[in-house]
Amino acid sequence: MQELANGAGLSDSVIINTCAVTAEAVRKARQDIRKRRRDNPNAKIIVTGCAAQIDPESFAGMDEVDHVVGNSEKMDPATWGALATGGTEPVQVNDIMSVTETAGHLIDGFGRHRAYVQVQNGCDHRCTFCIIPYGRGNSRSVPAGVVVDQIKRLVDRGFNEVVLTGVDMTSWGADLPGTPQLGHLVTRILKLVPDLPRLRISSIDSIEVDDALMEAIATEARLMPHLHLSLQHGDDLILKRMKRRHLRDDAIRFTEDARKHRPGITFGADIIAGFPTETDAHFENSLRLVEDCNLTWLHVFPYSPRPGTPAARMPQVNGVTIKSRATMLRAKGAEAVQTHLTAQIGGTRSILMERADMGRTEHFTEVALSTDQIPGQIVTATITGSQNDRLTA
Ligand code: SF4
Repeated sequence: MQELANGAGLSDSVIINTCAVTAEAVRKARQDIRKRRRDNPNAKIIVTGCAAQIDPESFAGMDEVDHVVGNSEKMDPATWGALATGGTEPVQVNDIMSVTETAGHLIDGFGRHRAYVQVQNGCDHRCTFCIIPYGRGNSRSVPAGVVVDQIKRLVDRGFNEVVLTGVDMTSWGADLPGTPQLGHLVTRILKLVPDLPRLRISSIDSIEVDDALMEAIATEARLMPHLHLSLQHGDDLILKRMKRRHLRDDAIRFTEDARKHRPGITFGADIIAGFPTETDAHFENSLRLVEDCNLTWLHVFPYSPRPGTPAARMPQVNGVTIKSRATMLRAKGAEAVQTHLTAQIGGTRSILMERADMGRTEHFTEVALSTDQIPGQIVTATITGSQNDRLTA
């Protein structure tokens, strides 16, 4: 977007790319828009992203906002050209559900020392709590050849780690000819880009993991031993009410299998606290899941109703209970992190440096190094201890 805006002569404008995943994310987006207007009284303020896609009128109604642009329009050079000449309606948001093509633009994001390649967007599922499909549309995938070419270019530019991202990554390929699966993509990347030292996959739905991906987890050392799982809950009844496609035992079996194939693999997980109708007993099952699946990195979301979703119409848990359950889950997560850190001490780890004095292991654990290294390089170091949720080496 920055490139397109610059190309259209809008380098002085402010673009706010909003998130809609929780009510808090939307609140923060509005707060940020007001702050940007105070800091930039004369700039054009353009709001886009999922919150703008889902509820364009409410953003267009803010005095601070000049234009609202939808998620598919935001990557179209014509949109930015029209914004620059002023010949456009204040709201340019089309029906995201009608978007089927996956453009190459999906895959050009990168950080400083780790490149992020988006291989899939949108989602065909309709979990009852989730607003994401209304912001991103239905699932569509980037063809393997396009992904491989992009990764080759990133490796040529010196990136030592690539992370594959998507909204519902395990559905990758279902819309492509021959319906390949994520495991095939991973295998193909590792085979066709032999100079890529590290490949990572971001959040996945464990019930949708295909045999080829499990095989890659077992055999491909360059595929990093860390998976973030979209688990959401540990109780079967709540999982059903969420319209998830797995049960508690499926999650446990998956983590056991993956650990058997790749000893030492670590797991992160998204878990929602206080989903509607959640009793103490249901919640206990989520707490116990942390141990039963041996989860390390928890992303805890206190439930917040998203307007228009089925869960928003279910009997709600009161806010104080939601908060305290989220706190309990986070405390459980903090214990799991300490256990993981302690187990690493004395071992030798390969670390991708993000700064001169800080990097991450294969398991995505932060490490503070006692001597400066070159950012972007992979170094090998002995873990000497841990401090403030980080390893030292
Ligand atoms: S699979 Fe993920 S993105 Fe899709 S509806 Fe469910 S929670 Fe939302």
